[in-house]
Amino acid sequence: MAEKEERKVTPRSQDFAGWYNDIILRAELADYSPVRGCIVFRPDGFAIWEALRDELDRRIKKTGARNAYFPLFIPQSFIHKEARHIEGFSPELAVVTHGGGKQLEEPLIVRPTSETIINHMFAQWIHSHRDLPMMVNQWCNVVRWEMRTRMFLRTTEFLWQEGHTAHATQAEAERETLTMLEVYRSFCEEYLAIPLVTGRKSAAERFAGAVETYTIEGLMGDGRALQCGTSHFLGQNFAKAFEIRYLDDNNQLQQVWQTSWGVSTRLLGAIIMVHGDDQGLRIPPAVASVQVVIVPIWRKPEERESVLGAARAAFAALDTAGVRVRLDDREGLTPGFKFNDWEMRGVPVRVEIGPRDVASGEVVLARRDAPGKESKRKAPIAELPARSRALLDEIQRDLYAQALARREAETRQFDDYASFQKQMEGEGGGGLADVYWCGAAACETRIREETKATCRAIPLSQQIAPGRCIVCGETASERAFFAKAY
Ligand SMILES: [Zn+2]
Repeated sequence: MAEKEERKVTPRSQDFAGWYNDIILRAELADYSPVRGCIVFRPDGFAIWEALRDELDRRIKKTGARNAYFPLFIPQSFIHKEARHIEGFSPELAVVTHGGGKQLEEPLIVRPTSETIINHMFAQWIHSHRDLPMMVNQWCNVVRWEMRTRMFLRTTEFLWQEGHTAHATQAEAERETLTMLEVYRSFCEEYLAIPLVTGRKSAAERFAGAVETYTIEGLMGDGRALQCGTSHFLGQNFAKAFEIRYLDDNNQLQQVWQTSWGVSTRLLGAIIMVHGDDQGLRIPPAVASVQVVIVPIWRKPEERESVLGAARAAFAALDTAGVRVRLDDREGLTPGFKFNDWEMRGVPVRVEIGPRDVASGEVVLARRDAPGKESKRKAPIAELPARSRALLDEIQRDLYAQALARREAETRQFDDYASFQKQMEGEGGGGLADVYWCGAAACETRIREETKATCRAIPLSQQIAPGRCIVCGETASERAFFAKAY
């Protein structure tokens, strides 16, 4: 009983936010820190971040960007150079005024993002068209002083990657912005099994200092949207502020065109909220640090050695085949407790080996995404590596398919404002609303104030006839996704 009580999690349907926090704490992904608004990444949570980071890093490098590292501290004057940038970030800045026991001559900002310091360096590194394109990425922490925080989704300090590029032409920079949007989309869909809508942001939702912001948006299990990553076309705003110029092949001085793009540890929150259930996490196999857990089961002491021997052999076979595997040979815990424990931690496949399995040369494979006896499968021990790999691939596809089906069921087209407003009523989400919008800020503001929904994305390719704006009834040439968001 004690075991059971300890494992109890707030039901997802009852209290989504409570469920979310319970999962993070019980699955030991993260913990609260003594500093308000900051969290501690525990090894199981950090392992997901590492797997995600390694794969995304590989994909980023394939586009031609290289990793660098810039300082945590930024001179305060840098932040003031781009007017909209300072306006956007001002209330969120952490400022260092003292160092070495003395007041600093110029206060230092703890980076909220690194546009300013990177562009300061770009101005010194870029001289000629031969220096372009310049493409750097950095994996680092940033600080934004948040008033309302939620683990992984909005924390005062968070981890991310930020890419910064400079190009000779506008067209090249615009192409780079969209290339990275596509890198993020394919990465999240293929690797994290999170289906996305993509598009550009409205002016109100744009990054501070950008000409255009593009976004990938996921729909979480409670019907709220989550911005999962952004790619910004910065135009020449920062190039002007930081005087980043190059000599073109006619020996004329030109300003560069720029982009920046990033995803953060927020993606861990997305994995939990898209795939998790009342039993705990469900980690997509691609990103799981343990893909298969082996649980040996015996009752009588004389069964122990043969079962453990078979379990060790199974471990070795999977390990050799490149499957990330763990053998749970902890003593003094019931198989039932272990099953619950690994379900909570979201391990995609469990292999059960008992005395009868050893005798028949078989094992039992159980799927985390499809609990219950019906989905269990027996497999000959010799086929375990191949069967596990196939099952992991199937689970990866099924998790995506399940999430996509839910996203589609929660996406609705509206023609009249009243029914749209009604859908967004209440405490929870409301799904994605797909509506004609004229693009006027006044209509967007009214939607936000009356429904709490914000413009999440305006899809890029729209082959549609003009319609009527859901708010004002004027002609609208585009549809946009609105949703309540994190
Ligand atoms: Zn309108």
